[in-house]
Amino acid sequence: MSISITGIGISRGIAIGPVYRLEQGDIEVYEAAIPVELVEDEISRFRRAVRAARQQLKDIRNSIPETTPVDITDFIDTHLLMLEDSLLTAAPLELIRQRQCNAEWALKIQRDALAKVFDEMDDPYLRTRKDDVDHVVTRILRILTGRETHRDPQDSTRLHGAIILAHDLTPAETALLRHQGIAGFVTESGGPLSHTAILARSLGLPAIVGTHITPHQIRDGDTVILDASRGELLADVDTGILKDYRRQQRQQNKHRLELKRLKDEPAVTADGQRIHLAANVELREDVLAARRAGADGIGLYRTEFLFMNRSDIPDEEEQLKQYLSVVKTLKGLPVTIRTLDLGSDKECGAEPPSEHVSVNPALGLRAIRLCLKHADLFRPQLRAILRASAKGPVRMMIPMLSSAHELNKVLALIDEVKQELHRERLAFDWNMPVGGMIEVPAAALSASLFARKLDFLSIGTNDLIQYTLAIDRVDEEVTYLYDPLHPAVLRLIGMVIDAGRQQDVPVAMCGEMAGDTRYTRLLLGMGLTDFSVHPTALLEVKDVIHHSRVTDLAAAANRVLEQDDPEIIIEQLELINKI
Ligand code: PEP
Ligand code: MG
Repeated sequence: MSISITGIGISRGIAIGPVYRLEQGDIEVYEAAIPVELVEDEISRFRRAVRAARQQLKDIRNSIPETTPVDITDFIDTHLLMLEDSLLTAAPLELIRQRQCNAEWALKIQRDALAKVFDEMDDPYLRTRKDDVDHVVTRILRILTGRETHRDPQDSTRLHGAIILAHDLTPAETALLRHQGIAGFVTESGGPLSHTAILARSLGLPAIVGTHITPHQIRDGDTVILDASRGELLADVDTGILKDYRRQQRQQNKHRLELKRLKDEPAVTADGQRIHLAANVELREDVLAARRAGADGIGLYRTEFLFMNRSDIPDEEEQLKQYLSVVKTLKGLPVTIRTLDLGSDKECGAEPPSEHVSVNPALGLRAIRLCLKHADLFRPQLRAILRASAKGPVRMMIPMLSSAHELNKVLALIDEVKQELHRERLAFDWNMPVGGMIEVPAAALSASLFARKLDFLSIGTNDLIQYTLAIDRVDEEVTYLYDPLHPAVLRLIGMVIDAGRQQDVPVAMCGEMAGDTRYTRLLLGMGLTDFSVHPTALLEVKDVIHHSRVTDLAAAANRVLEQDDPEIIIEQLELINKI
């Protein structure tokens, strides 16, 4: 009988191949007393292990081809930095001396102490930092216990085309395994926003995380099917099912190749409506990927990624350089630079100082709220974005607006900065468009107020859904409640589109919903004409646009908006997608 395991699919596609199980679980560590005359030897053993761990990570970093389309070296550098960090690697030296214990035990004590600090902080982003500490500790432990060869297999012929099953994978391991040609991976732990998940998406690797278990009946070498879109792993299947998945896989590959032909074609519906189809970017590499996919520009540039994985804050000049390089790469296409969206699950190494620990950070000092409180953080960014606007079509976008009072403050500050730049004779575009993200239900309900004062709006469905349905978007326990088709969500989206239409202000959508082809026709029918999606989703969305007639969709979309019953909404969506 076939075995099915489900988890969170963090990317797309089907992979079929033999299982390669990486050693599961933690390494058991016991305390051993070290005779006083051997304490210095034990310390040397620990130092050698740290040096070896550093070397392993450097080797991994050097083995990653420069053409890899994502800044994965940054992830590895984070782990290398931890190996330099005295909290993690110097404290055990003292513990070995004081307790006269083995190196493994000293490292475990220090790991537990650090984990406790992270746990007490009770912050989702810092929880992922705890995972990073564990990844580094496990690497050192494997070296100390002579078990590293299981994790870093030399036999890359066995890895080629394999589907990895592991308890957890570090970003560094993911990068290396991808380089060794794996077809996909499944991990018991992890969430959709971990660095490993971000990597899997950027590398186009089918993957599932958070399965909790991988039954031992699935053995090395067994052929399995990984369906990332459904978040499902199938083992021990009969030849009929296997054949069917191979057929689906061939179709997907063929479809992907065919889609490349759309790259230079404009996104126009079958009844002639031009749709603006832009890309979301986080990393420099994404801008090139967006161009390669034929995007009409960048509809969301998440600048907070510039502030992460570092201990200082990029100043105005550094930011300007980055923004100008994006403008240059885009060769005349527009870029929408979103001002800092830090706080909640996204934090940078050099946080503005604060005594305050929020119990509910997603509702706390986040995004524009944080920026308005810390003008020293915000002003340099406003100046840099404005200065970049002198060199190309730049738009500025403000995240997480919730009230007119807040909006007025932002607009006044932007005016002040413009006057300042003018006095300093620094070039900028006086008419640079300023827009706002609609991602708080209050903003959606009063969208016309925002439309009156802004040049454009962009619907951030990731947060709009989080706040409307009261589900923490980084808590895997409530992921099942995430529902873009919830009547409340659809009605809010409809209100924003209508408000934009009435005020003649463009409305875009840049949340994940915009890049999910199941919703493209519904959104077109609701009147959305501006989409911003992850570069890997762009051609698929364009394809659906080409095969849609807006005139046929409007009435059907209206019928969906009038419905309350989730089952009927799904049925109607299926009908829309068949029109
Ligand atoms: C959103 O909330 O939909 C969005 C695009 O912003 P982010 O995912 O960066 O919060
Ligand atoms: Mg958001």
